Amino acid sequence: MRRRHSSIELKSTDEIVRMRAAGLVVAEGLAAMSQAAVAGVSTWELDRIGREVIARNGATSSFLGYAFPPFPGVICSSRNDAVVHGIPSKTDVLADGDLISIDYGAIVAGWHADAAVTVEVGAVSDEARALSSACERALWDGIAAAKVGGRLSDISHAVETSVARSGSYGVVENYGGHGIGTAMHMDPHLLNYGKPGRGPHLVEGMALAIEPMITLGSARTKELPDEWTVVTSDGSWAAHWEHTIALLEDGLWVLTAADGGRAELGSRGVRLSGLAG
Ligand code: MG
Repeated sequence: MRRRHSSIELKSTDEIVRMRAAGLVVAEGLAAMSQAAVAGVSTWELDRIGREVIARNGATSSFLGYAFPPFPGVICSSRNDAVVHGIPSKTDVLADGDLISIDYGAIVAGWHADAAVTVEVGAVSDEARALSSACERALWDGIAAAKVGGRLSDISHAVETSVARSGSYGVVENYGGHGIGTAMHMDPHLLNYGKPGRGPHLVEGMALAIEPMITLGSARTKELPDEWTVVTSDGSWAAHWEHTIALLEDGLWVLTAADGGRAELGSRGVRLSGLAG
């Protein structure tokens, strides 16, 4: 019987190594799509690149066919006032100055990895650049707070305080991070705000997708009639960054970062697993 921590799936080191294979597919695809995200390119074309990377690696998509109505893409492409879950489309064409979140998940041998980046299309406003930077910084500050022996909400609190240090942004409350492993969305749900020292204890073998979503205005969101796209209720722009991480006995491993998290976490004094290279 699989080892569990209450309702949370715990992975062996071998299983985390298998999740890393999925994480590297996600990293490769996001890098390729980020490069391709220029003015005039549709989000459908980005999705096609995501499909090619998945196919080339013998992986499958975590997103395609997910839930109901079945999600039709391998990426969620969420532009400007869209926060998450945007549907890639031939008519959704990138323009200079846009901010687009690309969220992408892959399955290798039954194990999932999930990550998102926000890409600046051409020259974006200072305000938009600062928004995305604040969100990316909050992601890494949240990751740095994930330590064996700590509690789940230590991550939530680190994300929230990082965002507050960066400026006056809305922290989206209706969506958050999640456990991940043999499925994309598993227990526990991870809020992007809250007091530290609460929730499940963080133990070896946990894998979490950490994903702050912040806005230039209201934290409130609404879903569009397509039943997927989540936009800000006030039309303000949003940013979204995400990584899948694993907690090992000897430290952290950012499974969806090509370098395992070394560049960002080294400067934060975080202990990385020897497996992170
Ligand atoms: Mg996710």
